[in-house]
Amino acid sequence: MLDPNAFLLDIKVAEVHPVGRYGIGIAFSDSHNTGIYRFEALRAACECPQCIAKKGNTPTNIVV
Ligand SMILES: [Zn+2]
Repeated sequence: MLDPNAFLLDIKVAEVHPVGRYGIGIAFSDSHNTGIYRFEALRAACECPQCIAKKGNTPTNIVV
């Protein structure tokens, strides 16, 4: 289990920018900015009613 005292809780999204035509990059207020979030991975992780309906009940593996 994560220790909530071991993490900064006030980290915010500082910037979101497109990466090619396949994803987005997010810069966080703690200066982390190296992740690329592919659209297909974001869609696979999305739990909104539309995405759940499209996915059915198939478990998804998320690779970011
Ligand atoms: Zn969705």
